[in-house]
Amino acid sequence: MIHSTDSRLLAELTKLLPNKICKSLRIQVTWFEAVTVLGKRRGLFQLLLFLMVWAWGANVALAQSRDQIAPTLSSAHRGFTVFAPRGHSNAGAAPIQPTASGIDSIKSFSGDFRVSGVGPTGNPQRKWLYTIAGGRPEVGGTTTFDAPIVPVSLDLLDYDGSVRVVHGHKLHYSVEPFISAVVNSPIFQHADYTSSDVPTQFSDSVQRAEFYNTMQSDWHTLLKPSLKPARTLSIPRGAYYFALNDDGSCCAFVLADIDVFSNRLFPPAANDASTPIGAAEQAGDVTTKGIATFLFPNTYLYLNRNPNNCCVLGFHTYDFEPGDASNGFREKRYVLNYSSWISPGLFGPGFEDVTALSHEITESLNDPFVGSDGIHGITPWWLSQNGNCQNDLEVGDVIEGLPDATVTVKTRGRAYHPQNVALLQWFQFQSPSTALGGAYSYPNQSVLTSLSPSEGVNCK
Ligand SMILES: [Zn+2]
Repeated sequence: MIHSTDSRLLAELTKLLPNKICKSLRIQVTWFEAVTVLGKRRGLFQLLLFLMVWAWGANVALAQSRDQIAPTLSSAHRGFTVFAPRGHSNAGAAPIQPTASGIDSIKSFSGDFRVSGVGPTGNPQRKWLYTIAGGRPEVGGTTTFDAPIVPVSLDLLDYDGSVRVVHGHKLHYSVEPFISAVVNSPIFQHADYTSSDVPTQFSDSVQRAEFYNTMQSDWHTLLKPSLKPARTLSIPRGAYYFALNDDGSCCAFVLADIDVFSNRLFPPAANDASTPIGAAEQAGDVTTKGIATFLFPNTYLYLNRNPNNCCVLGFHTYDFEPGDASNGFREKRYVLNYSSWISPGLFGPGFEDVTALSHEITESLNDPFVGSDGIHGITPWWLSQNGNCQNDLEVGDVIEGLPDATVTVKTRGRAYHPQNVALLQWFQFQSPSTALGGAYSYPNQSVLTSLSPSEGVNCK
């Protein structure tokens, strides 16, 4: 997936970065630290080679302005990040972890499994808890979640705060051209899968494969899409890079600083409607009972203020806000994802269209609260062949970047590329797997055929 003369070195470094990000649930590694670590491990020559190879952003120097880059990304690392929940609590409220009954959010069920491992800080642990969206498999029936889609366009601002103009073209990047393809995708439309005798949605096919041997045959977890009013997110100059279309219009893609992006996506205060998420909450477009998608046009995020530390294409999390009398003062949790549409050709073949959205939606179903209580959704440490070392139930992260990471699914006459994901049994270190066909991955059951070695904290 990385085109370079020293892919081994690159693989090692890309391994290094996401690890630190995922484990701490926040972005801490600075570019300087990464280079320092690398420099200690490798000779100066290799360090320089690495800097040259990874710096596809060298194009920057040739472009007209520092932040305009060539419309190619094929050598960029791409992935997803674990994103800690954000939000606000009632002032003065004791900082207690709300219990499942004390929160106002989507319908879910909890379970546990037993396997020897070590907990987040290295203590031996045998019992692990998870919370999964939907109704209980053994009870059966269909749970249908509202799945509001909030399209978000970008305004790239100039120094004076106005929308920037480059050669007569406004740097406004509209998400409009990508909306219908998303609505028509297998995330929301039905297709045939081996885990269901009736056509169903992609994420339901995954859940059914996972619980194939314990579910009632009529068990389904479905998403009811609804298109909501479009929003706009503006990014100040200095916090983005952009590539223009051949005709000079905006844009082929945009790279945005993940911190600036996140700060402008989430509400800065409870009841604030100035950001896309805040506005959608205040308008009732997204609620605590739905799984919301904030859909962006080829908007990829870079870490550590460095565009060469690119690209995050999606994350799932929830926004929490204080309860009120209407919900018995329970904490409100808005389960949501940011997902970028990925136009074909920007990355390698197969990594396109709804790859990011499928990754985030399946993760939201399997771990809607991203391990935020430090108990549910936390698993024994695992190490994937893609180098990701984590201790959470992030079903997409196990497979991102592996060969055959995506699968082709056709709906409404178009071939889409959702991502294969790991099944619960893989996190349970269960052998043989009780999933459909003894699988650890789905829909492509041969992407993961073996378990992770058992690992210590941070796989050290
Ligand atoms: Zn993920």
